[in-house]
Amino acid sequence: MSIIKKITCHVVSAAIQKPFTSSRGWLYKTRGSCIVEIETQDGIVGWGECYGPSHVARSYIDTQYAPRILGRDAFDVEVIWEDLYNRIKDYGSKGMAIAALSGIDIALWDIIGKTCGKPIHKLIGGAYRDKVDAYATGLYFIDMDRLIEEAVEEAQGYVEEGFTAVKMKIGLGSPKLDIARVEAVRKAIGDDVRLMVDANHCFTVPAAIRIGRELEKLDVEWFEEPISPEDLDGYVEVTRALDMAVAGGENEFTRWGFRDIVCRKAMDIIQPDVCAAGGISECRKIAALATAHGVECVPHAWGSVIGVAATLHFLAALPDQPPSFRPMPPLFEFEQCENPFRDHLAKEPIVQHKGVVAIPVKPGLGIDIDRTVLQKYSV
Ligand code: CA
Repeated sequence: MSIIKKITCHVVSAAIQKPFTSSRGWLYKTRGSCIVEIETQDGIVGWGECYGPSHVARSYIDTQYAPRILGRDAFDVEVIWEDLYNRIKDYGSKGMAIAALSGIDIALWDIIGKTCGKPIHKLIGGAYRDKVDAYATGLYFIDMDRLIEEAVEEAQGYVEEGFTAVKMKIGLGSPKLDIARVEAVRKAIGDDVRLMVDANHCFTVPAAIRIGRELEKLDVEWFEEPISPEDLDGYVEVTRALDMAVAGGENEFTRWGFRDIVCRKAMDIIQPDVCAAGGISECRKIAALATAHGVECVPHAWGSVIGVAATLHFLAALPDQPPSFRPMPPLFEFEQCENPFRDHLAKEPIVQHKGVVAIPVKPGLGIDIDRTVLQKYSV
């Protein structure tokens, strides 16, 4: 038994030097998160993270979830998940209610791992791999007068750091400018570096298909969120029309949300986020659903070292898709924009070497949280 004694939400925020944006047009001036800390009666502490607006996640946890899980056994992680989901689903079967639930689920898995003395991936099926190839997510829009130059410089920087795969943003309001920018990046990094693009759902179906055909000529591996996530029929059209893989799903939640995407093969690759889609427990179910329908699962990740570690354990336990002599294992999204919570929140940061990230092997998430960082940026 590992009785839950206390739940604390740490809302943190840090200003960043170079604000950036994507096709959404939101200017990111800060990085922040809702970090969940759960303590057991035995003094074991588990950490989780919720994707999205931090104060909203905290409110769900403080007012709806925390009172229901105090006194329960952390090992009942899926029982707790079902209970909390069924408590909230009439008001929030998607979105922040599920992101808040995700943070709790991750923290409970951290407790279970620490109690058993095992890394999380050993408790959710085992290690298909002990390291993963990472891709650098970056190439947002920063300096509107140097969009092409800055993208080239940033991409070259990632290759120099050892990355063998890079994902860039598109959706500048001009397909010509988008293509020129992707072309310049492709030329700069050469043919051997894998390249993906992410439109953050800014195109219509015909515009996505047209630009997709141009991207295929530049050997772009996947086209992420070409169109709006609500338009499933549109995803079916774009996915069928293009030879390149179409990806999406970072804004979808739970097995019920992903069911229709995978049943219809509306995307070639689904990208559930463990800090948003329902945590490690739920993402395991989403991944199982995807394999049954021949859809790849390559998780989205965009947060602190807690989300990074949780994603790595999830990835370690994902079967090869498909199994083969020399399988192509799922890539790890290693977002590279300035974020002190990714780089400094763990006493030993998670880093890449030659584009490869080792799966943490210490118990639980396998990271030690530096409380001074939480205090410094607490809001
Ligand atoms: Ca994305």
